[in-house]
Amino acid sequence: MNSDADVLIVGAGPSGLSLAAALADAGLAPLVLEQQPRAALDAPAPDGREIALTHRARRVMEALGLWQRVPEAEVAPLREARVIDGDAPTTLAFGPGDPTLGWLIGNHEIRRAALAAALARPAVQLRCDARVTALALDDDIARLTLADGSVLRAPLVVAADSRFSQTRRLAGIGASMRDFGRSVVVGRVAHAQPNHGIAWECFRYGNTLALLPMNDNRSSAVVTVASHRAPEWLALDDAEFAARIEAQSQGRLGTMRADGPRHHYPLVGVYAHRFVAPRFALIGDAAVGMHPVTAHGYNFGLYGVEVLARELRQAREAGHDIGALPALQAFEREHRRSTLPVYLGTNAIVTLFTDESAPAKFARQAVLRVADGAPLLNGLIKAAITRQLTGAEGRAWPRPPWPVFDKAAKAVQSVLAR
Ligand SMILES: Cc1cc2nc3c(=O)[nH]c(=O)nc-3n(C[C@H](O)[C@H](O)[C@H](O)COP(=O)(O)OP(=O)(O)OC[C@H]3O[C@@H](n4cnc5c(N)ncnc54)[C@H](O)[C@@H]3O)c2cc1C
Repeated sequence: MNSDADVLIVGAGPSGLSLAAALADAGLAPLVLEQQPRAALDAPAPDGREIALTHRARRVMEALGLWQRVPEAEVAPLREARVIDGDAPTTLAFGPGDPTLGWLIGNHEIRRAALAAALARPAVQLRCDARVTALALDDDIARLTLADGSVLRAPLVVAADSRFSQTRRLAGIGASMRDFGRSVVVGRVAHAQPNHGIAWECFRYGNTLALLPMNDNRSSAVVTVASHRAPEWLALDDAEFAARIEAQSQGRLGTMRADGPRHHYPLVGVYAHRFVAPRFALIGDAAVGMHPVTAHGYNFGLYGVEVLARELRQAREAGHDIGALPALQAFEREHRRSTLPVYLGTNAIVTLFTDESAPAKFARQAVLRVADGAPLLNGLIKAAITRQLTGAEGRAWPRPPWPVFDKAAKAVQSVLAR
């Protein structure tokens, strides 16, 4: 059967473009379809997202040539993270030390680097102004229809078209969605004191504030509020916004001023009921759309890219059909192992730390106090979170019995599907 590419990728976001680069390196010829015009991809505007990246994500980005395409001055080291609850004196700190917890890079820089890295591979084709409107998954081929009526064929379609993925819906795959009823308002601030690479997560009453360290005495202020209060934060003038951030951070970084526009994102967590079907797979936010508090969305996108490309390379080298289920299911299993515990854990943390009822306030202060006062527990929590961020293997961490884990995780995923 004639095909237009080995793999059709829907969406030229950072996940779709990274996958295109990885598939080219795996000996496949992908075609990326993007609804936006080419100019929007060539010069992506800053969107307020500072993406915290783990060590594993960095390794994937380096292997694909993305990391090398981000100017050094745009990479901010994340050396330490501190958590404060309300006005309580207790602080939970991760790091400082060796290795660095991670790095922060602006989302627009990642998008730009991902486009350049993908297009540096002659095997990658990109078609812009190409909105996918229909999908057919036949036994021997997958077909996509674009808004202009043209039809494209390939052995495999991968949807990387955001957490609200239309292509996922067209494939008949549902997703568990959790609308947190909250939104983030993000804006850069410049401050008098250095941030020393420390990220602050301040669970204030009424809103939470994260201060993410950037270079040159700047930080990204990420304010999470009930969605009906977001317009109030967006309407503040620069001086009022900076004054609020300075007050909520208790002047830790000195005098502040706003350093750029504010952006706004409603918070919806998404976990697809399945990541694959015959001739179809999901990647990036289309598979797992995280609440940003644990900073894992694009990291998971990159982990998925690494695993899917590896499985498809093996299938191709063995002369197997790359759209058949065995290779795709191996990807699904591994991606679920990396993502489901963190997805559920993140949602639980969000619930605990944003609930303003008295029992919830008591519970989270107890968590911080116990962690602060019990060196062993504190050490374990920090080690677990640090390991999650750095991807360090460490022999002290036994692997779970995967068959049991997989069964349990599949059951949880099907409960989410109800
Ligand atoms: C405030 C905030 C902070 C974050 N912080 C972090 C962090 O610290 N660390 C981290 O790892 N992640 C973080 N994330 C998550 C990260 O931004 C996302 O995981 C990542 O951008 C998702 O990339 P993607 O390529 O999967 O999807 P997207 O970037 O949403 O790209 C999807 C693409 O598909 C295209 N498309 C959609 N529909 C169609 C169609 N029908 N036809 C053709 N094209 C289509 C769109 O135009 C778009 O270009 C954060 C997110 C937010 C909102």
